[in-house]
Amino acid sequence: MVIASELPTFHIPQRRVITPPADLELFRHHHDRAQLAQITQSLEYRICADTAAANFKETPTVPVWQWAAEKVWLDAKMAAEEGWYDPDKTPWMKELQELPLRSDVREAVVKKPSRSGATEAAFNILRWMPDNWPGNAGIVFPEDKQGRDVTKRRLLDSLAKTAAAQLSPDEHDNGLSNIYLTNMLIKMGPSGSSRMFTEWWVRYFILDELEEHDATDSTTTYERALSRQTDVSDSLLVAISKPKKAGGPIDRAFIRGTQKEWNMLCPRCEQRFVLSRSQFQNDADCRHPDGTWDLLAVEKNTYCVCPRCQGRIHESEKRLMNAAALWIPRDPQHRRRGQDGKYVPPVPGVESYQLSDYVSYHPKVSWGKLRVMALLAFEIQPSHTAKVHYINNHEGECEEQDIVSTDADTIAALVAGRVETRKVKSADGTEIEQTTTHGIPGGYRLAYRHGVFSAPLPFTPTQIVIFIDKQKTHLKFSVWSVRIDALLSGQCEAHLIDLGREDDETALLANVIPRSYRITGIDEPMHITAGFFDSRYRGQAVYKFCLQCFHDLGLQIWPVRGEGEAEVFKKKKDGAPDSRSRDTARGRMLRYIEDICDLGKLMVRYFKDHPLQHELNDKLTRAPGWRLWLPTDYPAEFAAELTAEKYDQGTDTWVHNSQKFGPNDWRDTTKYLVLWLLEHLPALLKAHDLTIPPTEDPPDEEAGNYQNQREYVLKPNQKISDNG
Ligand SMILES: [Zn+2]
Repeated sequence: MVIASELPTFHIPQRRVITPPADLELFRHHHDRAQLAQITQSLEYRICADTAAANFKETPTVPVWQWAAEKVWLDAKMAAEEGWYDPDKTPWMKELQELPLRSDVREAVVKKPSRSGATEAAFNILRWMPDNWPGNAGIVFPEDKQGRDVTKRRLLDSLAKTAAAQLSPDEHDNGLSNIYLTNMLIKMGPSGSSRMFTEWWVRYFILDELEEHDATDSTTTYERALSRQTDVSDSLLVAISKPKKAGGPIDRAFIRGTQKEWNMLCPRCEQRFVLSRSQFQNDADCRHPDGTWDLLAVEKNTYCVCPRCQGRIHESEKRLMNAAALWIPRDPQHRRRGQDGKYVPPVPGVESYQLSDYVSYHPKVSWGKLRVMALLAFEIQPSHTAKVHYINNHEGECEEQDIVSTDADTIAALVAGRVETRKVKSADGTEIEQTTTHGIPGGYRLAYRHGVFSAPLPFTPTQIVIFIDKQKTHLKFSVWSVRIDALLSGQCEAHLIDLGREDDETALLANVIPRSYRITGIDEPMHITAGFFDSRYRGQAVYKFCLQCFHDLGLQIWPVRGEGEAEVFKKKKDGAPDSRSRDTARGRMLRYIEDICDLGKLMVRYFKDHPLQHELNDKLTRAPGWRLWLPTDYPAEFAAELTAEKYDQGTDTWVHNSQKFGPNDWRDTTKYLVLWLLEHLPALLKAHDLTIPPTEDPPDEEAGNYQNQREYVLKPNQKISDNG
């Protein structure tokens, strides 16, 4: 018999036909066995069996994480420590790596903090695929460069090790965008690249940092990826991201899934709970004698209080708690709702997970370190952006929209000397009235009214600063006292002491800049030494004014201008070299750009308007941190202008309708005060020997070099030494 090189057709040899005996079961059984033996002993059968064995594998039963522990070596390029992948370092990521074995799950959504191990887990599935679950796979990153870096560093090398025999022998094939294996194609690319979502079918999709994906299209990358999987019978889509705003891409995807949380077991009462910020505490001995936090002591002595039994849990028990932890879906009552407040039922086949850094073993996010970061962001140096950064990056949670627009009452509450009365129940049950005075008892008055001296200041400013808003026909300014004192909230306060309107720069220089501000009990008056000047309109005139003040009087008044998120801070898409300032990157509130006028060069401060509006709103609504105070005789127009800008929750924008609410010039000058303090407060505190809490946040390990994901870090450029 000649065996053809192609697969032989299967037939039962006819030579020794065994005649089936009639009607006797015993004989018929014997006949069947004889026929079976004839088939299995045939050459054709052996060829078929060998071919089948070479092409089909048994359905794998070992989960990916277990396979990875034996097969995935992470070298120094991929992990902080070299070694085999250790599933017990991120036990919460085991379940994700079991999903390819579960035919009922088609989508998985991970809403995560900066260190979760989610990306590595998703990569493990990919590394496991060639031998166990071959099929096309796609990895989508926010930007091309990130995709390339991560692929190079974390995927190509480890694939070469685990699936070397299957890597396409053509070196050129294994470029950084495609990896060809004998039985699968892996494509990776940026979210805006159409080749990721056309002309192929994808068994396994990874959408990494979904929140940062291009959303210019009417569809999201999540929907586009799903559309590439509709004809694949056992597909899986994994979307991973740190969240940003509530209702953002990862939040929407999370809401429609099972909404699982990592429920740990309390070592005291053996009940389950999810770790959260409010459970972390310190004893009184973590404070200095003056009541301020001793952050070194906090870092060493933070413990967790079980919300069930109030028992104390030490960080060394975390491993025990993680070992017994389970992913538990939120019950229907506590499911996170849609942005419209409506209940969203879980879509079958969608697992969604929410995770915080509190479970992590990483030394940079120990309970103590996280507690210090939380105290700084929420209590010691609170700011809107610091809070959002903490919530997004460490709690893996969204920023909720809770902005209260300011109205006349909000502004009235800023008046120094305001007395607040509230009823308090005393020990014997009777009600007593308790009064609190906010700010200087009796308040204070404006130093100048309509340009005429009115009253001395009852406090000594550290510095007097001016902020000027430029309109087409006139200038409006407000003058503030900035006071630094260890005992103040946020160690700083600002009082409005003067405001007004002048025709132009010449009038401002003649009438306002030389003003003397007298202080009760002190002979020497004080003067304006610094400030910001809006340079959006007729910038040249502003530049000349600033340089003249600097050269003639030594004043540090510098031009500022605002810009929208869409204008200049938006990342460049075409990859053209960026000719703008280094501080252009997303994640900066402020950047410095050199400009020139007749009198010479100077630095212009460009700020992001949107987050600064939020910071101003925090100050106007008396959020913790440095305080802003108004005099008892502040003009009604000032209050009206402060409230002229409204926040639109639906579109997340600040809207100024001048037809309806009038001008907002003094609001702008107050906004510049907030910006000035954002820039100068650390230096002012340092000059007064006050401790500046560390603001350095650990880098985002999973994102590798995604440095521009840091949000709104205020980082002055060296160039400001020219003028700052
Ligand atoms: Zn307990």
